[in-house]
Amino acid sequence: MNEFDFIQRLRDQTRSRKHSSRLVTGIGDDASVISQLTGRAVVITTDMLAEGIDFYREATPPRLLGHKALAVSLSDIAAMGARPLWSLVSIGLPDDVWNNTFKDEFFEGYLTLADKYGVTLSGGDVSRTVEQIVIDSILLGEVSSGAAVLRSAAQPGDQIYVTGALGGSAAGLKLIEMGARIRSRKSEVRSQKDTRDRGSSPTVREGSESEPPAVAGGPSTRSDEHAIQTLLLRHLRPHPRVGWGIVLGEERLAGAMIDISDGLSSDLAHLCRESNVGALIQSAQLPIDKDVIKLCGRRALDPLALALHGGEDFELLFTVHPENAARLPKRVDGVAISCIGEITNEPGQIRIAEKNRVWDLEAKGFEHFRGKE
Ligand code: ADP
Ligand code: MG
Repeated sequence: MNEFDFIQRLRDQTRSRKHSSRLVTGIGDDASVISQLTGRAVVITTDMLAEGIDFYREATPPRLLGHKALAVSLSDIAAMGARPLWSLVSIGLPDDVWNNTFKDEFFEGYLTLADKYGVTLSGGDVSRTVEQIVIDSILLGEVSSGAAVLRSAAQPGDQIYVTGALGGSAAGLKLIEMGARIRSRKSEVRSQKDTRDRGSSPTVREGSESEPPAVAGGPSTRSDEHAIQTLLLRHLRPHPRVGWGIVLGEERLAGAMIDISDGLSSDLAHLCRESNVGALIQSAQLPIDKDVIKLCGRRALDPLALALHGGEDFELLFTVHPENAARLPKRVDGVAISCIGEITNEPGQIRIAEKNRVWDLEAKGFEHFRGKE
C-alpha cells in the first residue's frame, strides 16, 4: 500500500467514527483547523517513542504500541487538569515494517484508545526511516481559562496524593528484560477458562502466536503467571488517568500536578523544584502495586524501590490544600487515590519517613542522557 492510499484510509477511518464537531478540517489538508471557544485555554503536548530506547520491537505488539503512543500524551494532558480532544501522530517506519501489518495494528490500538476518551485524530505525518521505528504523538486538550494545573503551584502544608498503584510498569519492564512476553491469544482463551472459577482473568489480548517461556529461569505457578502478565500489561498498555485529570482541574481541587513518567522520586523532585518547596513522604502510605509485592520480593527486586524510582506508571501526583481534601472523590473511573505525604517549606528537601527513620529521597528515576555527558 502506498503512502497516499494509507492516508486516505486513515481519513476514512477517522470520518466514520464519532469525531469532534469543532474540527473544521482534519486529515487531508496541509494543516488541520480547529474552532476555538472563548473562556477555554488550549493545552498541547508531544511525546516521542524511539525504538530500542522507549520500546523494544520484539516485546511490543504493534497494537499496544499504538495504545501507548496516545496513552503517554493523554497522561500529560491529564496532568494539566485538561480534557483531551484532538490528536496528531507522526510515524517513521523502515521498509520492512511499512510492508507488514504493523501500521494497521498500530492504528487499531491508537484509534481504540482515542475512541475511549473522545479524541479525534486530526492529522499527522508519515516518513521512512533507515532501520528503526519512531513515533511522535501530539495531543491537544482544553481547560477553563486559568484552571490548568501547573507543577509550580504547590504550597507548604498541602497534602500530596497519588492515583492508583506504583511500581507495576517498572516491574513489567524488568520482566521483559528477563525474557517475559505477553501471552498469545490462543493461550488467552485457555487461561480465561483456567481462571474462570477464581473470579479473575488476565485481559491479555495481544501478542504473537509463539509462546516463549514467561520468564527465563525457573518455572512459575499459574498465579505467578497471571501476575506476570498483569505487570507486562502495566508496562505495555498503560491506563492514563484522564478522568481524574479532568475532575482535579475543573473542580479546582489540585494545587500542583505532574504525571509519573520518570518515577515518583524524580517527578516529585520536578514538582518541588518548580514550586520552590520540599516534601515529606510516608513510606507506609505508598500504594505499591500488589503484583509487584507478590512477585518482586522473591526475585531480588525491591518493591519499595520500584514504587519510588520506577518510571512509566502514568499515575497522577498532585497536591491538595487541606481545606479541599474533603471535596476529593474517593474514586474516579474505579481508580482510588492515596495520601502519601505533605509539602514542606524547605525547598529542595525531599524526605521519606520509614518507621522511625527519616532519610533523603534521592531522585533516581529515568533520565535519557544519564551518564552520557
Ligand atoms: P504534507 O506533505 O502537506 O505535509 P502529507 O502528505 O504529509 O501532507 O499529509 C496529508 C494529510 O494526511 C495531512 O492532513 C496530514 O495531517 C495527514 N496525515 C499524514 N500522516 C498522518 C498520520 N500518520 N496520521 C494522521 N494523519 C496523517
Ligand atoms: Mg507532511
